[in-house]
Amino acid sequence: MTQEEMLAQFEEVGKAASTCTRCDLALTRRNVVFGGGNPLTPLVFIGEGPGENEDATGQPFVGRAGALLDKALAENGMKREHIYITNTVKCRPSLVEGNRVKNRPPRQEEMDACRPWLQQQLDLIKPLVIVCLGAPAANTIIHKNFKMTQERGQWFDTPYAMKAMAAFHPAYVLRMKGEAYDKARASLVADIGAARKKVIELKKQLAERPPDPEAEQPTPKEDAQDPTQLSLFGEE
Ligand code: SF4
Repeated sequence: MTQEEMLAQFEEVGKAASTCTRCDLALTRRNVVFGGGNPLTPLVFIGEGPGENEDATGQPFVGRAGALLDKALAENGMKREHIYITNTVKCRPSLVEGNRVKNRPPRQEEMDACRPWLQQQLDLIKPLVIVCLGAPAANTIIHKNFKMTQERGQWFDTPYAMKAMAAFHPAYVLRMKGEAYDKARASLVADIGAARKKVIELKKQLAERPPDPEAEQPTPKEDAQDPTQLSLFGEE
C-alpha cells in the first residue's frame, strides 16, 4: 500500500467512526474523537477516553491535560505532528451528578465495542512503539490487570507494535500536588523521552536487518521505515 492509499484508507475509517453507534456513549457524545497527529508516525499514544473539552471540539488531548502532554513532548524535542494520539474509546464517557455532567472512566463493554476502531487505526499506522497513557489503555494494549505502580515505564512486546509501555496519564499528573506532582510530571517526561529513544533504537535494528529473500512484500515493521518517518526521529 502506498502512503497516499494508507492515508485515504485512514480517512475513510475516521469518517465511518464519526457516525458510530456501537455503544451507548453515542447517545451522550457531542463529537466522536477519532484521534489526532500524524498517522505516518512510528510512535502512537493511547489514552483513556475523550473528556469535556475533547467532546466539545472533536480533538484529542485539548485542555489542561493536552497542554501538559504538549510540554512533555516539547521537553523531548517533539510536537503533536511527531506522534499520533487516540483513546481506547472515541466518545466521552460521562455521568450526571446533581446538575453537573462529569467525566468517568470507560467501562469494559464500551472499550470492547470501540476496539475495532483502535485496531483499524493500529493496523494502518503499524507503529513501532506505543505509549499507553494510564491503566485502561495498558489493559487493552499490554495485558489485563496492568499495575501502573509496578509496571509503568517497562517495555513489553505486543501484537500492536514492536514495543509498548505505559506512562502516567497527564490528567492523573494534574491531580497530584506539591512534590508528588513534580515526581509524576518528571516521570511522564522521562517515559516520553524513553519512547522516543526506543523508536530510534528499533529503527536502527530494522535498518541493520538483512533483507529476507523469501518475503514477497515488506513486513509491517520494515514498512514503517519510510523515510518521512525517519526524519521525525533524528539519530542520537
Ligand atoms: S465509543 Fe466507540 S464504539 Fe462507542 S459509539 Fe463511540 S465510536 Fe462507537
